[in-house]
Amino acid sequence: MKNIIYFLIVASSLLACKSKSHEETQAVSVNHRTIRKIDIHSHFRYSRKYLPVLHKKWNMRSVLVDVSIEDSIGIARSWQPYLTHSQAHPDLFFLCSSFIGVDIDSPNFRQRIIEQLSQEISSGAKMVKVWKNFGMVTKDSSGNYIQIDDARLQPIWDFLKGKGIAVMAHIGEPEQAWRLLDPDNPHFGYYKNNPQYHAFNIPDIPSYDSIIAARDRWIENNPDLKILCAHLGSMSHDVDMVADRLDNYPNMYVEPAARFGDLARQNPKKVGAFFAKYQDRIMFGTDFGNSNPEEAMTDAELEQEKEELDANYTLLWDYLSSTDTLEIRGQTTVGLGLPASILDKVYFQNSVNFLKLE
Ligand SMILES: [Zn+2]
Repeated sequence: MKNIIYFLIVASSLLACKSKSHEETQAVSVNHRTIRKIDIHSHFRYSRKYLPVLHKKWNMRSVLVDVSIEDSIGIARSWQPYLTHSQAHPDLFFLCSSFIGVDIDSPNFRQRIIEQLSQEISSGAKMVKVWKNFGMVTKDSSGNYIQIDDARLQPIWDFLKGKGIAVMAHIGEPEQAWRLLDPDNPHFGYYKNNPQYHAFNIPDIPSYDSIIAARDRWIENNPDLKILCAHLGSMSHDVDMVADRLDNYPNMYVEPAARFGDLARQNPKKVGAFFAKYQDRIMFGTDFGNSNPEEAMTDAELEQEKEELDANYTLLWDYLSSTDTLEIRGQTTVGLGLPASILDKVYFQNSVNFLKLE
């Protein structure tokens, strides 16, 4: 539930005003309809009549990314509704499974996870997600936080390598989580509303550096496992940090879902050069989703939700493709003006290759 709240915040706060000068509009040359798109990071839990129409308008397909979270009644997931959506619209949605480290010390942990993943891969999962509960939340029977490079997880990575299935990793959090909240930071609202992830106030949580280091060791130790670091690998405040890892680990890829606000705080020329240099390793992702069943919403609410989603797709498209002045999560910046060849890779071809879709 907590992460569902997150993408609502993301969706509503991403949307912001945008202005164009006459001169700036001259640089916009790529029509969004001509570029096929895959959103590799979405959470559309509930079906919507407008979603197929909107996806067609944007020439887009979305990966429904499951997350395993431990709550008061057990392990909560979105796998079943996602499976139903993808079966109803195989032309629209791809599937991503997930697992969590709860009960890692029980004798059948690995067997249970491998059986679950095996079944879900047979049902169509193209990728498996691990979330920040590795590193920051879930503890083993000795009371230690389970880091993502834990040797007890290695048989699971070996299984996925054997299947040729990639991993999406949201490990750690933006470094803001380990600092006093800054009202100007793009993540201020999230940690204000989700204090359980504001590590600054929870000294028990390992440091940012140690969680990132464990993630780096895991990537390095599994060169045959393709790893997509969600949210720019929790290093979105500094593209140099991301570049450093991409240089060191050929099996690492990134996507910027819910971190466009951090990119907007950095020099657009530098961010554009980052996209150009790593154009084969960056995939488009948004973290957009929904959290209410359609029948619980009024027509007006559904219309508003649709318009906000459309506006958010437009804002991200304008940021990547144009050189307009725009505002993302309170940060004024100019678009990156990426050429069609790079937009095609980032929006589509890199995800096709990564997920082995063709
Ligand atoms: Zn997400």
